[in-house]
Amino acid sequence: MVTEKAMANDKLHEECGVFGIYSHKDDVALNTYWGLYALQHRGQESAGIAVTDGKNMNIKKGMGLVANVFHDGIAGLEGHIGLGHVRYSTTGASIAYNVQPLKVYYDGGNLALAHNGNLTNAAELRSKLTKSGVVFQTTVDTELVLSLVARSRKATLPERVAEAANQIEGAFAIIIMNDEELVAFRDPYGFRPMCLGRLDNGWVVTSETCALDLVGAKYVRDIKPGEMIVIKDDYAEPESFMYADKMPDRCAHCIFEYVYFARPDSIIDKESVYLARVNMGRQLARETKNIDADLVISVPDSGTPAAIGYGLEKGIPFLEGLTKNKYIGRTFIQPTQKQRLNAVKLKLNANRALVEGKNVVMVDDSIVRGTTSGKIVQLLKDAGAKSVHVCISSPPVKFPCYYGIDTSARKELIASTKTEAEIQEYIKADSLHYISMEGLRKSLSVLNPDGMCYACFNGDYPDGADKVIRQGTKYLFETKC
Ligand code: SF4
Repeated sequence: MVTEKAMANDKLHEECGVFGIYSHKDDVALNTYWGLYALQHRGQESAGIAVTDGKNMNIKKGMGLVANVFHDGIAGLEGHIGLGHVRYSTTGASIAYNVQPLKVYYDGGNLALAHNGNLTNAAELRSKLTKSGVVFQTTVDTELVLSLVARSRKATLPERVAEAANQIEGAFAIIIMNDEELVAFRDPYGFRPMCLGRLDNGWVVTSETCALDLVGAKYVRDIKPGEMIVIKDDYAEPESFMYADKMPDRCAHCIFEYVYFARPDSIIDKESVYLARVNMGRQLARETKNIDADLVISVPDSGTPAAIGYGLEKGIPFLEGLTKNKYIGRTFIQPTQKQRLNAVKLKLNANRALVEGKNVVMVDDSIVRGTTSGKIVQLLKDAGAKSVHVCISSPPVKFPCYYGIDTSARKELIASTKTEAEIQEYIKADSLHYISMEGLRKSLSVLNPDGMCYACFNGDYPDGADKVIRQGTKYLFETKC
């Protein structure tokens, strides 16, 4: 079987989405279910929902898309606090016992947790805890947080969570609930997104505003880096405090959320994802000279806003030169050797009526391993395109991400082993252009470009995770989320 994952191999992957809700009047399980639908792009391998009614905490989770996991409904998930999670993971780690939310029973009662990100000191912590007799049931770093909270001797859940949060490092947007409260916190750099929304009779905290929109919650604000909020009432403002003992001197929001990961209709840390992508396209157009193009097309869907920006800036039409088949399943039968099917064709088809005899600019958001770009160029040439100029709205991806994004080893990143000229030759494009780092920074309208993480492009890891990792003392954990 060819997996969709293998076909999607040429992209970085977000690894999780989280959704928490507190309301006595709304159906929290149903809202969590809808919230996870909105966050499905952040993880397609597993999904889960935990709900408590103040005494009993029930959980339902499994492998697959939200629709598959909850195909027989959400019966049995009744209560006023809910927590949901969708997950993408690296191969081999997609195992049922790693599916979140994770739930335990401890001296304070029920506890459930959902995490988006990656703990860079997970191996160190795990080793320490294991030596003191702690046993683990999963291979996800998330379980460490649960264990740290359960072992804390502090009096209240927020105090316990704060103590645990100060022992973990890396990227994390985490939601924890017991039978009374919902606690959410974001790492001190703010790598991964998290926002707060208001229902008429409750509160929602989640990874992206698109989930707020779907459940009818009004965006209130983003959770600040290093902030923890505690929700324990339908109406009272959540309590908020800065939990981190040490705050870095700058933020490091993930720029790739704006390039590719997040849904275009989300607004993250006040910056519109869609408009940032349009700006990237405009900037790319300003930086690419000497292309005599008849039209601009995108690799749908993620390249579309940047392609529209490119067309607007250059004054050339944006047309849908590639059509995406939205209905292919997660896996399909491997074509035989004789058929020699280009698997990309299952997903994309070039529109001959638009591209034949034309000089085409094809905009995509990124090239990671270089496995599909060449095949798409070939599709366009086979459909009669006179020339295909590939324009990428992010700089070359040369370094792995240690902050909750699925990147393979550095050697598998095409830009770390080949020059731009070699990549152009490899994908057989008539020309290849990447947006500059400075251009990418300029594409942000609201956020301070100095407060972002660009490590996968420039190798400058905001918290020095690479140095620690090179020493071999950390980041030895099998699975991240
Ligand atoms: S390394 Fe890249 S993908 Fe990872 S957090 Fe930084 S910008 Fe995002």
